[in-house]
Amino acid sequence: MSVVVKTVAEVRQQFQGARLNGKILGLVPTMGALHAGHARLIEVARGESDVVVVSIFVNPLQFGPSEDYTQYPRPLAADLELCERMGADVVFVPSSEEVYRSSQLTFVEVTRLTDHLCGKFRPGHFRGVTTVVSKLFNIVQPDRAYFGEKDFQQLAVIRRMTIDLNMPIAIVGVPTVRETDGLALSSRNRYLDEGQRKVAIGLYRALLKAQELIRSGEKDSARVRESAIALLKRDPGIRLEYFEIVDPEEVQPVKDAITGPVRIAGAVWVGNTRLIDNVSV
Ligand code: AMP
Repeated sequence: MSVVVKTVAEVRQQFQGARLNGKILGLVPTMGALHAGHARLIEVARGESDVVVVSIFVNPLQFGPSEDYTQYPRPLAADLELCERMGADVVFVPSSEEVYRSSQLTFVEVTRLTDHLCGKFRPGHFRGVTTVVSKLFNIVQPDRAYFGEKDFQQLAVIRRMTIDLNMPIAIVGVPTVRETDGLALSSRNRYLDEGQRKVAIGLYRALLKAQELIRSGEKDSARVRESAIALLKRDPGIRLEYFEIVDPEEVQPVKDAITGPVRIAGAVWVGNTRLIDNVSV
């Protein structure tokens, strides 16, 4: 049975014994509305840790004023069931008052890696993410923490944060889980109606197109980008936010020739739903 805890004090109490006994603690931070992508993270954590903690917290600090914080789905009963099924030992479900007890005056911010992609279009987003993840790290004090490659920039930012701040936590990236047609699983996919769901696959198609061009020898990043964007623009149901070819570590756009490993990342709007995805080459 997964134990559900709501307060920081209860988390500390839960893990005191485990830590003393030298057990490996794995943390899977989520915002809930769990799907097979999250399940995969829990499964990987289960395979490598003695104690698996899943946190479910819709973090107000990482949402912009006009974003979907209030509408964000919160199907708690189904989420707890999934955690149970995947073998999580503890599910930490704090209220936002519990996490932000005092008015938060301390923030964690990773620069440079947050200048492009989502960082550019969601000001303050990554500052909210790194601040809450730091808090979760301090609350749970895990040995390992699991993040999806679906949010590739987030993974790079968190990796860098743990290095820069000497956090003794191994960050594990887990490959993106997709629907059979290739659409990356996302909690926000449930906002899509049937027609939008069909259109949504366009982003992944454009990413694959760019990947294929690079694999077949095209080195001019502008040309790759233009071809992929042209494909995306054929579909009137998709509005492009960004489509970039970046280096995987520092997340900076590759301006000239592609000479090493890159990530191709995109964000689009389908109706009022924002979707992101990425692939590596
Ligand atoms: P979220 O609940 O959206 O904040 O996501 C929680 C964690 O699950 C993050 O590390 C995400 O990158 C990861 N995640 C979300 N969707 C997927 C997916 N389709 N495949 C793998 N990991 C995912």
